[in-house]
Amino acid sequence: MNVVPPTSASLIAALAGVLPNGGVLTEDEDLARYSRDWSGDHVGRPLAVARPSSVEEMSALMRHCHAQRIPVVPQGGLTGLVGAAVAADFGEVVISLERMNRIRSISPIDFAMVVEAGCILEDAKRAAEQSDCLLPITFGAQGSCRIGGNVATNAGGFNVLRYGMTRDLVLGLEVVLADGRIWNGLKVLRKDNRGYDLKQIFIGSEGTLGIVTAAALKLFPKPTQTETALVGLRSVEDAMALYARARRDCSDLLTAFELILRGGIEIAMREGADFPDPLTRAYPVYVLIEISAGGLIDLSAMLLGFLDRVTDLVEDGIVASTRAQAERLWLYREIMVERQGRGGRYLRTDVSVPISKLADFVAGALAALERSCPEALAVTYGHVGDGNIHLNVVPPESMAPAAVERLFEQAEAEIFAVVDRYGGSISAEHGIGRVKQKAFLERIDPVTLDIAAGIKQAFDPRHILSNGRILATRADHGL
Ligand SMILES: Cc1cc2nc3c(=O)[nH]c(=O)nc-3n(C[C@H](O)[C@H](O)[C@H](O)COP(=O)(O)OP(=O)(O)OC[C@H]3O[C@@H](n4cnc5c(N)ncnc54)[C@H](O)[C@@H]3O)c2cc1C
Repeated sequence: MNVVPPTSASLIAALAGVLPNGGVLTEDEDLARYSRDWSGDHVGRPLAVARPSSVEEMSALMRHCHAQRIPVVPQGGLTGLVGAAVAADFGEVVISLERMNRIRSISPIDFAMVVEAGCILEDAKRAAEQSDCLLPITFGAQGSCRIGGNVATNAGGFNVLRYGMTRDLVLGLEVVLADGRIWNGLKVLRKDNRGYDLKQIFIGSEGTLGIVTAAALKLFPKPTQTETALVGLRSVEDAMALYARARRDCSDLLTAFELILRGGIEIAMREGADFPDPLTRAYPVYVLIEISAGGLIDLSAMLLGFLDRVTDLVEDGIVASTRAQAERLWLYREIMVERQGRGGRYLRTDVSVPISKLADFVAGALAALERSCPEALAVTYGHVGDGNIHLNVVPPESMAPAAVERLFEQAEAEIFAVVDRYGGSISAEHGIGRVKQKAFLERIDPVTLDIAAGIKQAFDPRHILSNGRILATRADHGL
């Protein structure tokens, strides 16, 4: 049986009855900001936007939607890059978490905080810092994305190599299920082996299995020292050799090891005089290295000593001597990400391969693109300590829209074929959503698909939650 979208005003009026006091928005001008994601590539007008302000309101809302078979999609900060959080064209109610944004507790003794899902990541990080703690999830969208979105996408970022993905940082969750029941798994226990670890099923499930309303997150001691360097190298192979030596020589204190190929640095340099060529001359490959630690280690001596030992690999480098200089080095990385598409559409990939295969992957994928899409600009950067590369493809400015679509299809197929050759993943960070669904389903083995479909059926038998993300729609399965 298909999910039937509500079209009548009475259904929407009933929603407003469940969430009084402005909890439901229906006017075009109110809906606009919930209808478009960060990239602008994905747009979808929802039937309405529901904004519960407590777990009880969320529960009542989902009870109602379940009973009425109203399709819904949870929405955080809309920075997800796979088109999952905007309403689909079959008519969905967006459930915005923005009014559930409180920090419920912080315990520096437990090294844990409990945060509502609508809290903006940067606000949660700031609150942790005020307790002398670090919430280590860190990436460019942290000023907009929300904790529920981070959990639902199992977000990564710059510091994964030291602290892990969001999955590694979640101690407990509170989740409202498709039928409105509240699953209270919100605990700050470090060890708990009682049966199935249910929180794991919701992490990375992209809103398809339940609505995360709060998360208990691991914190760490706030580092008191951070050292940052940008180095120039001859090749990606040398960058990977540098990474292996940095992990050992810097006592595993690396918090970031970001690879940027020359093209990315040149994109940042287009910003003008504030972004000169950062080193004395151009290098094919750059690495932004960050190490951090508490007070009893001479971190500056460690970084300088390390750089002295790797002169066979490092051609040139700059070590930030102030926090402001370090931030400036990081700005090259940020500006490059923001400006890479020249304001237009571009193909984003976020693939991973075993770290030992990363240099071969980059060489193979760039060669394949050069051969089959010579007109495109490839922008390559990534969190190489995690084997995670963003290999993005920017079309020529003058290219017609239909040709751009063909270029993206061809380029993605080329990149994913090289990923497959090295036993990698077509989505290391951003998830599947709707954008990667076809490529995901083409590669999934029947047993995994069967288990996944069974999980979906168990958690959301009416398929009202984020229908058609990750897995095909219920209708597509002929159910
Ligand atoms: C500039 C930039 C840099 C980025 N860098 C990185 C990076 O380094 N690493 C990385 O992993 N990602 C990165 N991303 C992707 C993105 O920021 C993350 O996926 C982020 O976690 C999404 O959070 P959000 O609140 O914006 O979620 P949204 O985009 O609103 O939603 C994403 C998905 O989560 C679901 N969802 C949202 N809230 C909930 C909830 N409460 N319960 C259940 N499901 C929910 C949505 O339905 C959707 O499927 C980047 C994005 C941008 C724009």
